[in-house]
Amino acid sequence: MHPLVTLAWLLSTVAHKIWALSPEQVSKELGPQLSQSAVISGWDATKYGRWSEYHAPKPGIVLTPANEQDVAATVEYCTSKEIPFLTQNGGHGWAKTIHIDNDGLIISLEQLNSVTFNDDRTEAVVEGGAHVSQVINAASKNNALVQTANCNCIGTLGAILGAGYGNLMGMAGFGIDNILSLNAVMADGCLHTITPEDKDLFWAFRGAGPNFGIVTSAKMKSYPVGPSGQTAWIGQLVFTPDKLEKVVEEIDAITLEPEMCLFMVFLTSGEPDYTPMIALLPFYYGTEEEGRAAFSSFFDIGPTNDTTAETQYAHWNDVTDVFCSKGGYKPSETAGLSRMVPSTWEEAWDEYVSFVSLGGTGASIVLLEAYSLKTARSFGQDSSAYAWRNKVNFNAIAIPWYFDSSLESDAVAWASRLRDLWRSTDGLDSPAAYINFANDEDLSVVYGENVERLKAIKAQADPDRIFNQWFSL
Ligand SMILES: Cc1cc2nc3c(=O)[nH]c(=O)nc-3n(C[C@H](O)[C@H](O)[C@H](O)COP(=O)(O)OP(=O)(O)OC[C@H]3O[C@@H](n4cnc5c(N)ncnc54)[C@H](O)[C@@H]3O)c2cc1C
Repeated sequence: MHPLVTLAWLLSTVAHKIWALSPEQVSKELGPQLSQSAVISGWDATKYGRWSEYHAPKPGIVLTPANEQDVAATVEYCTSKEIPFLTQNGGHGWAKTIHIDNDGLIISLEQLNSVTFNDDRTEAVVEGGAHVSQVINAASKNNALVQTANCNCIGTLGAILGAGYGNLMGMAGFGIDNILSLNAVMADGCLHTITPEDKDLFWAFRGAGPNFGIVTSAKMKSYPVGPSGQTAWIGQLVFTPDKLEKVVEEIDAITLEPEMCLFMVFLTSGEPDYTPMIALLPFYYGTEEEGRAAFSSFFDIGPTNDTTAETQYAHWNDVTDVFCSKGGYKPSETAGLSRMVPSTWEEAWDEYVSFVSLGGTGASIVLLEAYSLKTARSFGQDSSAYAWRNKVNFNAIAIPWYFDSSLESDAVAWASRLRDLWRSTDGLDSPAAYINFANDEDLSVVYGENVERLKAIKAQADPDRIFNQWFSL
């Protein structure tokens, strides 16, 4: 092509993109097809900002649909205009694969946030943008329990479409094990209801959901409970560093009963000293007496501080609210583990102490999550696209957390070192990562042996790969 022709083509392409993405133009072209309550605006980081600013998308347009027909019209519009788009729910996805800049559009699901129950409270319909706090509040008022993630700020389906670990794991399995059907706008721009009869799609949406469409609502199992059925024993036990070896040995050894979950956290005391601390966050679905008995082996090790207490369902996640703070840079890394190795965790602790001594990094945390997995495993490895149901017993996460971008290279290197350290003794045949905690891993690390089946389903359902932000297949 003649250089002048190439230049003219380039200019017209760029001009088209800029022209196509002003809020006024999108309002003019798409507005008439949307309901009156749908909102089209420019990007506003204070309103739509994400949990981590590291590699965060910064779109030209935010479109907030008011109902699922608006979602369908928006997908159809973006596809016809070749506008890249990303669904935003709670805004906590930290994977580097998420990338939208000012020629792209974010579909914010914040207006799709209702949670309703059937008469006998055995089913809940959770809309695509409902946050965990909204689901728990609605469930609590209806005297029912619904499996969600353990932090109030998370998009309920944002977590569940990747698998969905939560406090009710031991009793209800993963979030995906509780899905009865899904309403989703797919690549054809149409709304579909996906049921277990849609064998491949029902399997693929539950573990790799964001690759296949925008879920506008999910019908989920709900568990009716009486007044005492909303009580759990939760809190924080602090241990001195010399107890770390014993704590880790015990996490490896203990059999978590269905009522139990356990987190270990490296964190600091905060301002002004930022003293590094080791804390356990036990969870027991039941009374204080039962909880203390179930976790007695950790009390035998000798915590120096104990804030545990009986807590009602609507407040179960208060203990993790501190992790919800938005803003700052958090280039996090993860590793799935089959076992806990004390020497690895002692090395991880030394790494943590050294990193938070840098200054400006004192909000950083290291997290280890352990759940009772018997019920989740009873559904069978092939029941969903989540690859690590039978292999991973623990998930470890390093979350560097800083506000001064000059700390980036130290932070990225630190988190990668921890991931490599954990992998070196993970006890697995190959590295594994829970997709919702992953950063930029190879597809085989997040999807395991499911990569080829997922790709084949993707080729049918979304041949042009318009849903391409989330470990795209
Ligand atoms: C503080 C914190 C606590 C966490 N706790 C837990 C936990 O207890 N259990 C757990 O399993 N995970 C947990 N996670 C991980 C969490 O599951 C992921 O970060 C998840 O991706 C967050 O979803 P979101 O909706 O908040 O984020 P978003 O960034 O809005 O969404 C994440 C991805 O999912 C897609 N998506 C979201 N909603 C939909 C939808 N309705 N339809 C289609 N695609 C959609 C988005 O497009 C994006 O690609 C936690 C993360 C953080 C930061």
